[in-house]
Amino acid sequence: MSIDTTTSVSLSVRDVHLAFGANRVLRGVDLDVARGATACVIGPSGSGKSTLLRTINRLIEPDRGDVLLDGRSVRGDDPDALRQRVGMVFQQFNLFPHMSVLRNVTLALRRIRKLDADEAAALARDHLELVGLAAKADARPAHLSGGQQQRVAIARALALRPQVMLFDEATSALDPELVKGVLGLMAELSAGGMTMVVVTHEMGFAREVADTVAFMDRGVVLEAGEPAAIFERAAHPRLRRFLSQVL
Ligand code: ADP
Ligand code: MG
Repeated sequence: MSIDTTTSVSLSVRDVHLAFGANRVLRGVDLDVARGATACVIGPSGSGKSTLLRTINRLIEPDRGDVLLDGRSVRGDDPDALRQRVGMVFQQFNLFPHMSVLRNVTLALRRIRKLDADEAAALARDHLELVGLAAKADARPAHLSGGQQQRVAIARALALRPQVMLFDEATSALDPELVKGVLGLMAELSAGGMTMVVVTHEMGFAREVADTVAFMDRGVVLEAGEPAAIFERAAHPRLRRFLSQVL
């Protein structure tokens, strides 16, 4: 795969706090991802993983703390500009059902990158080809498999030329036989030098692809390190218990 990742940047999450009412969901999260590196975030349901991703591209404003791209705070960035720099892929794809695959990809290119119709269509076709779906450009999302829909969602995010990509359980809604294709695409993207934060229950992917694995529990990163350190030499009992349940 050939994606332009020369613009990838480093990502730092610094002491991020967020409460929903009395529910303190993030309680001082720190995470560092080097330029071109992949961090996998693992942890139990409700530990704040999705909320963390949403604070990184500022779908939610943290109560305290900061997010830095290449050392510079994103606080105060225009939300559209930030969403272009930080792409996000969700469990439920979030494609527009009434639009063709091609239009799903061109929409943001026209609105956010302000490309004209021909430029947007050409770039969208390039990215659909990259994810193996050039032939589906005119189809509606409902006529694609879940795995194909997720690859369209990835193409849509990549076409904006993000500097960081966030994945929130991107394969959790897929039938088992479709998971591999999407994980393979994500692994290629990682190998190609994209800076990525991947929330996942796929421990095999975390072990093989991640540069760093971060274990979240009750709103903090309890332990982070190289995959071998996390999977074979976990220090924290809560992490050891979690791994014994999921491996
Ligand atoms: P995870 O992705 O690790 O399962 P989440 O970040 O989705 O965890 O959720 C963490 C906690 O935040 C949960 O208790 C959840 O109910 C709560 N939460 C998430 N989003 C909202 C919201 N928009 N409003 C209120 N509470 C929320
Ligand atoms: Mg979640």
